[in-house]
Amino acid sequence: MLYICATPIGNLEDITFRAIEILKKSDIILCEDTRNSQKLLGYYGINNKKLVAFHEHNENEVSEKVISWLEENLLIVQISDAGTPGISDPGARLCNKALQLGHKISPLPGACAFISLISVAGLIDTPFLFHGFLANKSSQRQKQLQQWKNVNYAVGIYESPHRIVDCLQDIFDILGESTTIVMGRELTKQFETIKKDTINNILDFVKNDSYQQKGEFVIIITPHIDTDQKELITPEQIKILELLAEELP
Ligand code: SAM
Repeated sequence: MLYICATPIGNLEDITFRAIEILKKSDIILCEDTRNSQKLLGYYGINNKKLVAFHEHNENEVSEKVISWLEENLLIVQISDAGTPGISDPGARLCNKALQLGHKISPLPGACAFISLISVAGLIDTPFLFHGFLANKSSQRQKQLQQWKNVNYAVGIYESPHRIVDCLQDIFDILGESTTIVMGRELTKQFETIKKDTINNILDFVKNDSYQQKGEFVIIITPHIDTDQKELITPEQIKILELLAEELP
């Protein structure tokens, strides 16, 4: 049996009773970084387990071994460094292999940085898309952002501290200063910051405080037409506005 297990994204208390029970019973735990995971597992009193490195560079190769362990009826649990495996983290290739071969596979749900921010983002009946990390290069990032110029859904992205200012600047340049974004920094950790404001104000806030440029980030770009406006403008009126906008120079 293969379990895909979420681990905390900061606060070590954010793990389920079931996850801890199954980790305790497991024969092998697949970890992105075995030293990180050893510390994490130690916090829950899970010691002396067989930990196997399983990351983006060896996922295919180790998946083959995992399949043979599943054939021996071993209980395998996959965890990543933080949050839910398969969400901007390894796991998908292994799941595909196990599913194709008819092995039993089950999720142990829990923390995910994007879902955590969505839960506090105040999006009323707004559909959303999770993109994950944008490209490293600004020119490619700008191209990616172009595709979300006129959409009616929110978009979730992950960003690292060394690119956060450049990324916010690109959102400002491509999607316009009045775009509302939600920024979640260091979620569930001691110095958590959650802000919902125009990109103009959030860019100022982050640029002017180097402290706000540190840590881990999730950004949700909200659509220009948000729920409040949707209640005031009918879909027909939106269509007419879009047609008129096409005629503008
Ligand atoms: N699988 C993880 C999940 O379920 O959220 C995501 C792993 S991805 C390699 C790591 C990225 O997730 C970070 O660079 C950051 O963008 C985001 N992230 C992880 N923990 C976070 C936290 N506590 N606060 C804000 N963002 C976080």
